[in-house]
Amino acid sequence: MSGRTRLVHRARLSFLAAASAVIGCTDASSIGIEEERELGTAVAEQAAREMPLLQDEPVVRFVRELGAHIVQRADTTGRAYEFRVVDSDMANAFAIPGGFIFVNRGILERAGTASELAGVLAHEIGHVVERHGLEQMSKAQNTNTIVALVYVLLGRAPGGAEQVALQVAGSAWMAKHSREAEREADRVAVAYLARAGLDPRGMPQFFQRLLEEERNNPSQLLAWFSTHPVTEDRIADTDAMIAQLPPEVIDRAATDLPQFAQMRRRLDALPAPPVDARALP
Ligand code: ZN
Repeated sequence: MSGRTRLVHRARLSFLAAASAVIGCTDASSIGIEEERELGTAVAEQAAREMPLLQDEPVVRFVRELGAHIVQRADTTGRAYEFRVVDSDMANAFAIPGGFIFVNRGILERAGTASELAGVLAHEIGHVVERHGLEQMSKAQNTNTIVALVYVLLGRAPGGAEQVALQVAGSAWMAKHSREAEREADRVAVAYLARAGLDPRGMPQFFQRLLEEERNNPSQLLAWFSTHPVTEDRIADTDAMIAQLPPEVIDRAATDLPQFAQMRRRLDALPAPPVDARALP
């Protein structure tokens, strides 16, 4: 180790000690919406650089508008949400603190109706509103995660935060949420969909679709299952939550939208995802 490397190493260690001290008294609730946004922006920018994003404006616009329609009735904090479509045919979606929702093309291709896609978006919005990703980051005993948080808390240069964000990406937002967090995201999603006039039954329908696909192709692990495990229990829980809604809410809700079929036709005509994106989350 050269003198300079040692110096940098020591500086890093003392920074980590300070970081741990700050984090020791930090829980997600003490992090403001603006700090959350800064952290999320760094992680989301990194994610957007690492992943092939679908650039087709009409397809992305449909997802953005459907998402914004749900957000309007779901999140009262004024978070500015951004919706992106990852050009990968794996069935997955994830939310980054601050309101960055990434949904894979594979979800759009598997959804049978607009309300099925809305169920996935509402679930991810639920993770943001309930701050599950943020809680996970502040609880994580992962130095990279801690450093990323402190970079934000101490207002460090974004260049550094961006660098760390990649490691956070691998640990925090891709990490499996707890069963309780999943259940909570499902519960609030049912309420958001009802408020948005979208049929919440699309959510368990889509879960059922994924579950069946996984049963038929057990060799092909759906990435969704590693971050959002789908079980019969989860479907039954969601059905029970929906059963508690007043029947007229379901009667009035839209199961599908004509723009969904248009979006699907357009998507089907686009070139296949890049080959190296096949294995992406
Ligand atoms: Zn989830």
